[in-house]
Amino acid sequence: VTSPEQTVQPDCLFCRIISGEIPSSPVYETESVYAFPDIRPVGPTHVLVVPKVHRRDAADLRREDGQLLADLFAAATEVAALSGLSERGYRLVLNVGDDAGNTVPHLHLHVIGGRQLAWPPG
Ligand code: AMP
Ligand code: ZN
Repeated sequence: VTSPEQTVQPDCLFCRIISGEIPSSPVYETESVYAFPDIRPVGPTHVLVVPKVHRRDAADLRREDGQLLADLFAAATEVAALSGLSERGYRLVLNVGDDAGNTVPHLHLHVIGGRQLAWPPG
């Protein structure tokens, strides 16, 4: 579990993207969250929404992160609207751990859409 003080981790890929050290194209941004395109999109729209403070994954969240979570999901709704997905729908994904294929240990909400998506995922 990340200690509450660990808001930015210098070795974290997404912390470096959030800080601008690694360039990315902003899709949406607020005081608390940042959204940018996934480098390997699995759909016509594939955006990652990340909290600016470092949390490892959904299992690293605590009750005090309620506002952070609300901000994350509100941002996903905005990203969907900005991407023209509101009417036809989209998928929100949080991968946790190896079996889910989680590769980047900084919490990120996938917003995927723009085509019919299969269920269940492979
Ligand atoms: P997950 O499997 O949930 O950990 O997802 C990690 C996602 O991050 C994958 O979909 C990758 O394609 C994406 N990704 C990895 N590196 C970058 C990067 N530099 N910029 C944007 N997306 C990235
Ligand atoms: Zn991080």
